[in-house]
Amino acid sequence: MRVLSVASEIFPLIKTGGLADVVGALPGALAPLGIEMRCLVPGYPAVLATLADAEVVHRETGFFGGEMRLLAARAGALDLFVLDAPHLFHRPGNPYTAADGKDFSDNALRFGALARVGASIGQGLIAAFVPDIVHAHDWQAGLVPAYLRYAPAAGTARPATVTTVHNLAFQGQFDKALLADLGLPPESFAIDGVEYYGTIGFLKAALQLSDRITTVSPTYALEIRGSEAGMGLDGLLRARGDAVSGILNGIDTAVWDPASDAFLAARYDTHHLAARARNKAALQQRMDLDVDPRLPLFGVVSRLSWQKGLDLLAEAMPTLAGNGQLALLGSGDEVLEARYTTAAQTHPGGVGCVLGYDEELAHLIQAGADVLLVPSRFEPCGLTQLCALRYGAVPLVARVGGLNDTVIDASTMALQAGVATGFQFAPVTTPMLEAALLRAAALYRERAPWMRLQLNGMRTDVSWDQPARKYAELYRGLARAG
Ligand code: ADP
Repeated sequence: MRVLSVASEIFPLIKTGGLADVVGALPGALAPLGIEMRCLVPGYPAVLATLADAEVVHRETGFFGGEMRLLAARAGALDLFVLDAPHLFHRPGNPYTAADGKDFSDNALRFGALARVGASIGQGLIAAFVPDIVHAHDWQAGLVPAYLRYAPAAGTARPATVTTVHNLAFQGQFDKALLADLGLPPESFAIDGVEYYGTIGFLKAALQLSDRITTVSPTYALEIRGSEAGMGLDGLLRARGDAVSGILNGIDTAVWDPASDAFLAARYDTHHLAARARNKAALQQRMDLDVDPRLPLFGVVSRLSWQKGLDLLAEAMPTLAGNGQLALLGSGDEVLEARYTTAAQTHPGGVGCVLGYDEELAHLIQAGADVLLVPSRFEPCGLTQLCALRYGAVPLVARVGGLNDTVIDASTMALQAGVATGFQFAPVTTPMLEAALLRAAALYRERAPWMRLQLNGMRTDVSWDQPARKYAELYRGLARAG
């Protein structure tokens, strides 16, 4: 079975968040199950720079206002199609925003073009790879099923379609005047097509027109059917009924392996947990914290945004600093960046923050922190708590979305049964977060149950094995139905 995956990011070539991790990991996880997955991604400079054996398999002029070449190429273990359209993608930096932090003004055309090519490959544009399924990720690939429905290419193949929602907050809404530029006919601008509150809705189109919709955890799949997490799309999601399901993300357990991780000060596994202390000391040093093994060290690796609840953590800083230390790595919202810079100045030796994106430090935090904090207001799946489980950093999370599905709270009963892996709190408020911080700090002082939490987490299966099986099942069911 062949599947074309269409996405705007792919690890390790270009990444702004968890989407890239998932898109980059799925092909390798599916291959042993007999599924050949290729990924179509935009030809950003960072992507073009890493390609090996690139071959031009298709060309067009006058394509969304310029010339395009479609490349078939490999990058490491990944088999790619790369949409090389310099007028759309030859720009430095972030895939979505200009240097001033604002979205590129032509994002509709940039990602419309990506979806157009995805739909065409789905219909047999490249004879050497005609997929049974086109799997589109997020709004950037959202128009794939719209092109298949309203502007089919010349090919005769009819792929089935799956759309995965990694975050419903990003919907891709654009001016309806762009319809013709996108190559969509007037009849597509309808309530059962791409129309969304008077605009063109890329994600809306995908949710309306894909054969199946998945999101990245069972709890989030339920939450988005309600008005709060549904963000305007809950009615449509309810209407799609059991076409909508949740499949948890995994993590790449080769990239995230404390036993072989080159970024750590000391490598360890469940049998050599004591070696973890050297990573804690290294992290304390790196973050200008007092090097003290007794204090619980709380870690954060996150985008700094409202979604991630890090304003609540900033409010809880006196409680945290009174009971332990904080090592925070993050970037994003300027107000939050300033708050954490101030917190580090207010609590020298107790609060450390590094603003920016740093893969290496992210690994050291997972290996050195005692607790990994994820106080998100909503969280489709969340990957950092999965890394934390694998690294023996006990996750302390808000009880929402995928965080609800992946962490077992250290309730009295769960501790008694020996199955707890972390801490959850709800509702997502500062007092409840503070209460959870205190609960974690108290249990940290009891060495035996704490170690049990760590080991339970490290033995949890956070790999792609189970999720990949679920995707394979979904694809096979669709192919049979087709
Ligand atoms: P989201 O995709 O909403 O940002 P996820 O938890 O799903 O959140 O995925 C975030 C991914 O990005 C994880 O792999 C995490 O380690 C990584 N990450 C987030 N912020 C940083 C940072 N500042 N430096 C390094 N890695 C980061």
